[in-house]
Formats: sequence, C-alpha cells, structure tokens
Amino acid sequence: LPLDIVTTKRDKRALVFVNPAGGAGKAYRLVMEYVIGVWSEAEFTYHIIITERAGHARDYVQSIQLADWSGIVLASGDGLIYEVINGLMNRDDWQEALKLPIGHLPCGSGNAFITNIVRYSQQPIMKTMEKFIVQAAVIIATYNVLPFDMAVVDICDGQRLFSFLCIEWAIVADVDCDSEQYRFLGEARFTVEAIKRVIQPRTYNGYIDYIPYDAADDTVNTNQITPNTTIAQLHRHLLPFNESIPTDSTVTKWRRINGPFAHVLITSKASISKDTIASTKSTLSDGYLTLQYIRADSSIRMNLAKTFTTMSDGKYLDYDFVEWMPIRAFRIVPSDTSGNMMIDGEKVSYGPIQGEILPSIGRCMGK
Ligand code: ADP
Ligand code: MG
Repeated sequence: LPLDIVTTKRDKRALVFVNPAGGAGKAYRLVMEYVIGVWSEAEFTYHIIITERAGHARDYVQSIQLADWSGIVLASGDGLIYEVINGLMNRDDWQEALKLPIGHLPCGSGNAFITNIVRYSQQPIMKTMEKFIVQAAVIIATYNVLPFDMAVVDICDGQRLFSFLCIEWAIVADVDCDSEQYRFLGEARFTVEAIKRVIQPRTYNGYIDYIPYDAADDTVNTNQITPNTTIAQLHRHLLPFNESIPTDSTVTKWRRINGPFAHVLITSKASISKDTIASTKSTLSDGYLTLQYIRADSSIRMNLAKTFTTMSDGKYLDYDFVEWMPIRAFRIVPSDTSGNMMIDGEKVSYGPIQGEILPSIGRCMGK
C-alpha cells in the first residue's frame, strides 16, 4: 500500500454504529463473532456505538468532527444508512461530510447497500448471513473509496430528504411497510408479505411525471461542489410542489403516465434487498434512476405473481406487462389520500413525492 493510505487508515478510526433493532435483533452478537477478529488482523481500527433509538445515528453524525474519523460503518439494515446519509446532508458542511466513506455490515433484514457494493466488485454474494458479514468485514478492512449515486427527494410535508436506494409506492411499499411485523424472520419477511399482497392485490390511483434520462443532459459534477454550493444548485429540474409540471411535449422534457397502477418503483441501484434485482443494468453510480411500473388491469394477480417469483434475478423486467426506463427526475402524485410511501425502506408522509438523481455524490467503502 502507498504510505499515505497506511497512515490515514491507522491514524483515524472508523465510526461504527450497531443497530440492536435491525433484522432479527442479532447485530451486536454478529459483529462480535464475525467482524472483530477480521478487523484486528487487518489492523482496521474503529469505535463502536450501539444506537439507543431510531434517529440516534442521524443526530450523532450531525455533530461529529469530520477530521476525527476515517469513515462511517453501519452494522444494520439499510435504515441506518439512510439515517446517516440524511444526518450528513443536514450539516452546514455537508459538502465535506459527503466525502466520509460509508461501509455496511449486513445486519438488518434489508441489506441492499452492501449487496450493491459486492455486485459492483463482481464477487459472488455469500449465501449465508454469517459468510456475507465476513465478506463485508473484509471489504471494509481493505476498502477502496467508490462513488455512488443519491437522489434528492421532496416529500409532501415539506421535508427534503436524500435517498441512496429507492422510492417505493404501490405494492412494494405495502410489502416493505406491512412486513415490519415479521421482522424476526429476517429477509424472509418480504416474501411472506408479498404472497399475501399478490393474492389480494390493491390498485393505486394517480399519475407519474418523469424526465427520461439523456446522457447529454447537464447534471451536477461532484468536482464542482465547493463549501458554497447549495442543495438547490444540485438539482436542475425539480419545481416547487405548488407549481404544476408542464406536460406539453413540444416545450418540456417532462412526460406523464396516468394510473391506475399495480406496481410502481424508482430505484437508483440494482438490488433493493439481498435477494432481489430490481434493475439489472444499474451500477453504484450510473447517473440515472430507473422508473418501473405495472398497470392495474384484469391480469393483475397473474402479473404480480410472475413479478414476485422472478425478482431474485430481475427477469420480471423482460415481461411485456412491466414498463421500465432510465429517468432523471420524477414526481408521483397519488390521488388516494392514504397509503404507504417509502424512501430506502423507511416510511414517509403519504402524498406527492418528487426527486432527481445526484450522480456520484456519495462515497462508499467498496472493492
Ligand atoms: P432492517 O433492515 O431490519 O429494517 P434497519 O437498519 O433498516 O434494519 O433498521 C430498522 C429501523 O430501526 C430503522 O428505522 C432505524 O432508524 C431504527 N433504529 C435504529 N436504532 C434503533 C434502536 N436502538 N432501537 C429501535 N430502532 C432503531
Ligand atoms: Mg429497514
């Protein structure tokens, strides 16, 4: 290793948050049993904090001294990664905070962040939980810093949030949210809830506006982010919610799709959990979001059954009834007043939601 890398890695410790509520609740034991040994051999130094409540990690990273830490590692599911990203983006010096690389030990029920990192490295993803954690521990102990895409997301209560994974509406949001009661099952909670939802499908009314991805489009260049850059300068297309989106195709890039829908999902990565592929071509930092949907029609049960049985390898995207496309920005406007809307697996207020890709703005510990 070049000398500067050796000294930075030994000089500074990584800040590690362990979520005792993640997955089946075994995160701390898993870290002690499978991670600590690997890290001491690799001389990877760290400081562990066990989260005491939801929001603890988010609040904590808002007041750390950035220079004290080599990076941040989350022993949890995707929920804690989302918390930390949003905590860092809430800082006045978010431009610097974003440079701290984020590592992930898969100790939750949704472990998409590390799954996408391993996919990108072209290593096989370890099948058992224990081996997968060791695989992640090794990546973290020997990491290269890799960029990843995020999306800026506005929700109806006025909050501006940041997503690294997906914006969920319709059946996927219902499966993700309503499966919380089966948390003790680990990843299998999604399958159990999906089966219930396929047997008794709902339809979701509203419309989706989107801008198709165009590689020639002007987007934020992470090299141009300075301490003076504002969040508003990072996005190019979002309008305030009280302004309706122009849909005349002769003057605007925006397009509209009207519901009712059975399935709507927007992803910025290939996998939305360890055992799913929701966008076969996506990488960590391809510069676009993928919008996919299935219309609610008379074949809804059959189409959803085919979808959920082929999500493990993403083959459902080849079915004619699944529409998908790379996009730059979106606005979803549901017409029902209640339901589930999720960002990265965390529930947010139900109502209109909009977002835009921020290419390569995050940094992760990868290979
Ligand atoms: P999972 O993949 O199992 O959902 P996550 O890491 O996503 O695991 O965490 C689930 C939820 O637990 C998140 O909403 C997170 O904010 C919350 N959380 C974090 N720490 C705690 C804690 N100490 N007690 C309860 N909930 C917590
Ligand atoms: Mg979660």
